[in-house]
Amino acid sequence: MDVGLKRELEEKVRAGERLTREDGIALYESDDLAWLGGLAHEVRTRLNGDVVHFNVNRHLNMTNVCTASCAYCSFQRKPGRRTRTRCGSRRR
Ligand code: SF4
Repeated sequence: MDVGLKRELEEKVRAGERLTREDGIALYESDDLAWLGGLAHEVRTRLNGDVVHFNVNRHLNMTNVCTASCAYCSFQRKPGRRTRTRCGSRRR
């Protein structure tokens, strides 16, 4: 992203102007994460000050039985495997 577009986007963000779809795409494609993070931090602190919230997100899996085979998964067990679990059951 060229410096001119960065300055233009900074002005819009600092003025509280609504960004266009093209602005969003330009920000998404930016390879200057420090600049983008700084801009995001400005908006966040303007809106929320120094208050930060965290969301603890939990998923209760009813079973680990799954027929898919996602390459990264160490959770799933194929139907019929001895180590499968289901909600309310012991390991069977
Ligand atoms: S991530 Fe694991 S449990 Fe989820 S669909 Fe893929 S293989 Fe199944």
